[in-house]
Amino acid sequence: MKKKISNLVGSGKASDNSVDLEAYSYCSSETELKPGLVVWPQNIEQIRRIMLYANQSHAPIIIRGSGTSLVGGCVGGNNTVLSSEQMNKITKLDLKNKVIEVEAGIRIKDLNNALSEFKLLFPLVPFNPVKTIGGMIALNAVTKESQQLGRISEWVEEAEFVDGTGKYYTTKKKDVVIGKEGLTGFITRARLRLIEPPALSIDIFTFSELSQLLKQVRLLQKDVEVYFLEFFDKSIAKEMGFEQRYLLITSYTSLKGKNKTVLEVRKILEKLDSVHPLLRSKGYYHLQDPAVSIEKTYDLIDWCEKKKVGLHGHIGLGLFYAYFSREDKDLIKTFKSFIRRINGSFGGVFGIGSANKDFVNPVKKKEFIKLKDEYDYNNILNPGKIINYR
Ligand SMILES: Cc1cc2nc3c(=O)[nH]c(=O)nc-3n(C[C@H](O)[C@H](O)[C@H](O)COP(=O)(O)OP(=O)(O)OC[C@H]3O[C@@H](n4cnc5c(N)ncnc54)[C@H](O)[C@@H]3O)c2cc1C
Repeated sequence: MKKKISNLVGSGKASDNSVDLEAYSYCSSETELKPGLVVWPQNIEQIRRIMLYANQSHAPIIIRGSGTSLVGGCVGGNNTVLSSEQMNKITKLDLKNKVIEVEAGIRIKDLNNALSEFKLLFPLVPFNPVKTIGGMIALNAVTKESQQLGRISEWVEEAEFVDGTGKYYTTKKKDVVIGKEGLTGFITRARLRLIEPPALSIDIFTFSELSQLLKQVRLLQKDVEVYFLEFFDKSIAKEMGFEQRYLLITSYTSLKGKNKTVLEVRKILEKLDSVHPLLRSKGYYHLQDPAVSIEKTYDLIDWCEKKKVGLHGHIGLGLFYAYFSREDKDLIKTFKSFIRRINGSFGGVFGIGSANKDFVNPVKKKEFIKLKDEYDYNNILNPGKIINYR
């Protein structure tokens, strides 16, 4: 396998060296699966040939971006990891129409750094900006800005990809790969819409009563100027340097918020970005992504508070991040049962991967089987993720 693939990609672009295999055994979850080979393709033709070969020889491929998956999506035991990391160029920038074409391996942070000199922005900015555009498209990523701007699917005009049989698709098929977690194809390039960075203002609300918080959320949900609506529980609020009360940070695409100078806004945004690393440094290693309706938000916050589970979330969208420590394995099981009981789900932010397979409903399963039949009938792409195909 290594010899054949090395011939396809050239020397130094495929490795079964133990250091590389170790480095690609991990993602941001606790799943650890050592691959048999790591490959860094340089162009679409190489990916196409690798897929053709893998399809013929029934050799499983795991597609990988930056490896920040929290659901074991980008690791696979003994498989070949196909990394997008070295396909990270901007291939076209259309300033007039505010559209950019990029290779899938570009990291969102590098993309926005490059765009800043043109006063443009790819507006969905995750807390962890090392993610690749390919990884975000594969997850149909949601970020705090999704409150106003929707998911990444609304910002992707086109996504090119190579499917599991080696066929290359250039246009009008983006839905085959958006949100499909690499089960249908390797996204090679995308055409993205951009905006001018909006002038934001921010309000900070704190509450002692949950009912007051939810009343405010309902009000703000109706406000079209709300850009994001972030909730933090009392303990996280305290860690962030606020009062120990329920905290709601709301940003507007107008200047009606109390904090409106560039410095004030930047300071608050930096605080938001610091939450994940801060909680990780306090020992909260396990992240879960419960999704609940606004009617069940009270129950979720109340449960987490009683069990001392940290909770933060895009509250207007009903999407949350629940923080657990390493010792909380049993508590996570109880939490999953609780979320099921209140008709909630998992995977709305982090995807399904191998960790959230229990939460895939029959309709979604059928949809994936149909796509696999058409684009990857030998099941070489990310096998065992989301569904058990064949
Ligand atoms: C602290 C933290 C915070 C997070 N917050 C968010 C958040 O706010 N919103 C959010 O959506 N996610 C979040 N995540 C989850 C994760 O970062 C996202 O799923 C992200 O989109 C993964 O990007 P990546 O480049 O690291 O992809 P990887 O982790 O390498 O891969 C993720 C999945 O995408 C597939 N994939 C990657 N590249 C391609 C490609 N080129 N073609 C086809 N499939 C591909 C992989 O096979 C895998 O299934 C967070 C993770 C962490 C650790």
